Amino acid sequence: MKTIGLIGGMSWESTQTYYRLINQRVREELGGLHSAKLVLHSVDFAEIEALQHQGDWQATGEILGSVAQSVESAGAEFLVLCTNTMHKVASQIERSVNIPLLHIADATANVLKKDGITCVGLLGTRFTMEQTFYLGRLQDHGIQVVVPDESQRERVHSVIYNELCQGVIKPDSKAMYLDVVASLAERGAQGVILGCTEIGLLIQGSDTEVKLYDTTEIHAEQAVQYALGRI
Ligand code: GLU
Repeated sequence: MKTIGLIGGMSWESTQTYYRLINQRVREELGGLHSAKLVLHSVDFAEIEALQHQGDWQATGEILGSVAQSVESAGAEFLVLCTNTMHKVASQIERSVNIPLLHIADATANVLKKDGITCVGLLGTRFTMEQTFYLGRLQDHGIQVVVPDESQRERVHSVIYNELCQGVIKPDSKAMYLDVVASLAERGAQGVILGCTEIGLLIQGSDTEVKLYDTTEIHAEQAVQYALGRI
């Protein structure tokens, strides 16, 4: 089994989901007392969030690049960056180390393609819903992406930072997210990507008829398969 390198803390609310899912899946796959070999470096999200909103992505890339080096030095054989948004600096991180990074958008696109999805809705932070680093990556896989309208994007983004990343789950926000999911489906999305690693804490597949693709679950599963040498 390969040692997984988790770069987490963005936020830790979702990193704990990664940690649990990865260990549960390794136990299911290998049985008994088996658990994942992993190294976790968890950052102080307040520092990263301030730089994101100042637009200083270069600085976030430098921080996460040096975190990646520490994870590699600690024995990790590949990297899992436990946030969609920070994949904006994925190439800066990749340049800092000699081990591969399992890109969350590629992992998600592969599942979509397996399910025959050609047009998908995307929920996430404004950075993820509006910038090319994520949308473009999905489009490179031949997948058309529909994003919420401006006011919906603002509300979806605000719930992520002001509620979900702080461990706050509100019924009103859940209802709002489900309305946005329904509107994306009405606009032609055959499924919706939960493209922020905390959204699965708020809405789940059982809440809607629309097929949801939870990036935390998909990414954690890919990490396990890679660690076990199956992909
Ligand atoms: N975890 C979130 C994501 O998947 C948002 C926090 C962040 O900005 O990293 O995008």
